[in-house]
Amino acid sequence: MKRSIASLFTLIGTAMLAAAKPNVVIIFMDDMGYGDLGCYGATKQKTPHLDRMAAEGMKLTSFYAAPVCSVSRAQLLTGCYGVRVDVPAVYGPGSGHGLNPKEVTIAERLKDLGYATMCIGKWHVGDQPEFLPTRQGFDGYFGIPYSNDMQLKSTATGQRVTPLLRDDKVAELLTDEQQRRIVERYTDEAVRFITANKDKPFFLYLPHTAIHTPIYPGEKFRGKSSNGRVGDWIEEVDWSTGRVLDTLRELKLAENTLVVFTSDNGPWLVKGADSGSSGPLRGGKGSTWEGGVRVPTLAWWPGKIAAGSSADAIAGTIDLLPTAVSIAGGTLPADPVIDGRDLSPLLLGKSKESPRGVHYYFSGYNLQAVRKGPWKLAIAPQNETMGRDALPDAKTREPRLYHLDREIGEKTNVAAQHPEVVKELASLGESIMAEIGGNKPAARRPAGKVAKPEYLYPAEGRRKPAKAPQPKPAKDAR
Ligand code: MG
Repeated sequence: MKRSIASLFTLIGTAMLAAAKPNVVIIFMDDMGYGDLGCYGATKQKTPHLDRMAAEGMKLTSFYAAPVCSVSRAQLLTGCYGVRVDVPAVYGPGSGHGLNPKEVTIAERLKDLGYATMCIGKWHVGDQPEFLPTRQGFDGYFGIPYSNDMQLKSTATGQRVTPLLRDDKVAELLTDEQQRRIVERYTDEAVRFITANKDKPFFLYLPHTAIHTPIYPGEKFRGKSSNGRVGDWIEEVDWSTGRVLDTLRELKLAENTLVVFTSDNGPWLVKGADSGSSGPLRGGKGSTWEGGVRVPTLAWWPGKIAAGSSADAIAGTIDLLPTAVSIAGGTLPADPVIDGRDLSPLLLGKSKESPRGVHYYFSGYNLQAVRKGPWKLAIAPQNETMGRDALPDAKTREPRLYHLDREIGEKTNVAAQHPEVVKELASLGESIMAEIGGNKPAARRPAGKVAKPEYLYPAEGRRKPAKAPQPKPAKDAR
């Protein structure tokens, strides 16, 4: 009798502890720009579910990713600037490099705190077995492990395909046309995972393949928006997010779940009608202009995050790991060093300040700009977007200063009027470069390396995997 009462209390205790730990869902778009959602000013496509998410939660208007895919993902997973963990550029299929398995990811941190973990979608921090999600803290994985335009010609079928993985095995080879079902399939998988884990804390990382080119909206969404196929695909992702949120509502998990919706970088402007929009921001994907890295971001946690709120404090993907660990009741050790900070005071309305105050804009291994408060100092030439060079005003190494609150579009250089601000931000830039940038950083941790990388399936490569290049230090990566 005594024992059974004791075990009953243990059971209740465990259940209460589990209930106290909030679930974490991160929905990560590919190449979605600052101007692509209704709640950020889009008019051509309709995003009612995401607009509702904004109305019920918080809109973050100075939230920063990195200029390109792999770097952004490394940042989200580790809480570090990509250069600190030696992920400065994009990995192709069969690359011998990836995010070092020794790095402790957000999934590993949450798993240690008792969370079920799942990754559904585009991984893109290494496709060798050593680098896959199931080796980085995720209980399961389902998705195309890199960009959907990295098709290789399968030697078995002769078709240009991308692999769809289930955990660490190739489950299917998808033709481009078969990508048309990818949002729907990811969504089904997400709903399944949430439902199966409704009674314990879970972490769902849902990095979509959409809206990276090639653009393949689902059949039900084809031709439905007023913005061509990219608008159709945005509307499908809106539907998908609505389904995830509805599932949380139906399972009565909404008030115990933080959902963050954001993007890995800005729109790929050279893709013309297939590109998203950076709205009022200058530049796109691959650049360190605001349009390349400032991304639409919503945080939703009914009852905890104030409905219809917004925050313009500096924040970004590097802050998601410390934020998730904090709300899960965990703490982070001093070693390894991370760059991100806990955003929960900002999200929960206890502070209006950015927990780090400064943001560094790296391109490859090199720093191109620094932001502090409303000021942004550019110290290197900045291209407009991947595939479009710097315009004459940005070809110089002369410091250029912009006041983002007065002019979000970064046209007017006010460096001459504010020499003291230029000096302060330049000095911050020098410090971070010495620490993690350039060729001789004091505190960069190494990338993971595999001696003999192979493609995930027999394929005729675009390049030989064994020679898969790691971008050279001090060269800007594409
Ligand atoms: Mg991307």
